[in-house]
Amino acid sequence: QAFAPLLTVEGIKVHYGAIQALKGVSLTVGKGEVVALIGANGAGKTSTLRAVSGMLKASAGKIRFGGQDTTSLKAHQLVPRGMAHAPEGRGIFPNMSVLENLELGAYLRRDTAEVKTDMEKSFTLFPVLKERRTQMAGTLSGGEQQMLAIARALLSRPQLLLLDEPSLGLAPQVTETIFRTLREVNQTGVSVLLVEQNAHLALNCAHYGYVLETGEVAMAGPGKALLESAEVRRAYLGE
Ligand code: ATP
Repeated sequence: QAFAPLLTVEGIKVHYGAIQALKGVSLTVGKGEVVALIGANGAGKTSTLRAVSGMLKASAGKIRFGGQDTTSLKAHQLVPRGMAHAPEGRGIFPNMSVLENLELGAYLRRDTAEVKTDMEKSFTLFPVLKERRTQMAGTLSGGEQQMLAIARALLSRPQLLLLDEPSLGLAPQVTETIFRTLREVNQTGVSVLLVEQNAHLALNCAHYGYVLETGEVAMAGPGKALLESAEVRRAYLGE
């Protein structure tokens, strides 16, 4: 990978009781890089993201982020260090307004004036959120909720954005908008670790990709190279 490392994951294992979800996953995300994690249902994509963001404790392995050992840090300790997670199912608060949800994304920040500027930036990225800013988040469409989850994560000013299944349940056009915005976000220097069922979409957008199979990395390579690999095409692109 051609980028200076920002996140390095080495041999992490995750267990849920007797079930071993991760059997020693290693991956790297560079500064300014978009990395996609693809694989079938249950391959361990979500568990990898949850372990990286400190929502879940890995039973073995090492995680380094921004030059520090963050293996045993929890999510609330990683956010101020520059890691934001937009989780599966989006994790927004349905009974709070769009604006209140966005404010929560910035709750650790003391630079009030800049938060305001960043709020305006999220409205530029996602104009529909501005229109709906006083609306309860639960009344938004699925696509709008996904945009809100991403915008909220960005309000912590992350170096690394972890994104779980942004296309899930969304119409192709909405998904396209979200991926276009992701590219814009990446162009501002934010690195992205993206979990996606839609391998085509993810690998097209990503500099680098990892294929997970039953808790292990089965294949890795530049996004475009994986897209062209016969094995990936057969197993994940339905060809
Ligand atoms: P999906 O796309 O379905 O979310 P995934 O690739 O993200 O799949 P994970 O959700 O990480 O995979 O799941 C990996 C394995 O761990 C699966 O076998 C799953 O059944 C199991 N698993 C995940 N969460 C739990 C849990 N809370 N309790 C028990 N087993 C779990």
